[in-house]
Amino acid sequence: MRLERLASVSRHSRLDLNEIVKELENNHLGNLDEEIRRLMPEPVNQQMVGDQDDLNEYRSALVGGDPGEVIVDQGLLEIKVSEFSVRWNGPHTPVVRPINTATVDCHDKTMEQILKEVRRLIQRKCKNRKSKYRTCKYCQESNTPEWIIEDVFDGIVCHSCAEQHEGIVF
Ligand SMILES: [Zn+2]
Repeated sequence: MRLERLASVSRHSRLDLNEIVKELENNHLGNLDEEIRRLMPEPVNQQMVGDQDDLNEYRSALVGGDPGEVIVDQGLLEIKVSEFSVRWNGPHTPVVRPINTATVDCHDKTMEQILKEVRRLIQRKCKNRKSKYRTCKYCQESNTPEWIIEDVFDGIVCHSCAEQHEGIVF
């Protein structure tokens, strides 16, 4: 595949090795990004994740699903796949927080090998995330963990029903 690409590049431009290498890299990464997006639950959006006050953590990443299920950080040498979660920084400030992060090392691997590992991790993280959804006893809706209250009332109550039926003010 690389050789074919190389041949087509050299046909179209003068033989400049740096340019060819750059072209190959861009093409490789471009495809990888596209393929990874295809493996994620829709919609897939590039968005800021992590705590804004923690610059080691705050960054742009791919988020898949609505509500979110999985977060992918695509680096040059490794790809990180995390389960989506939300932490409340105050009652009205949800912060997207990647948890249970697993890393795919891209060294010496073909695109197929990388994608196979990424696919497996994405499926696992989505499954973990969805296993935490709970049905509210009032509205019977399935809710994500950040929208349920589990241990305070008799049974599981979502935030809006907690306001409506239990007199909680968020
Ligand atoms: Zn409810």
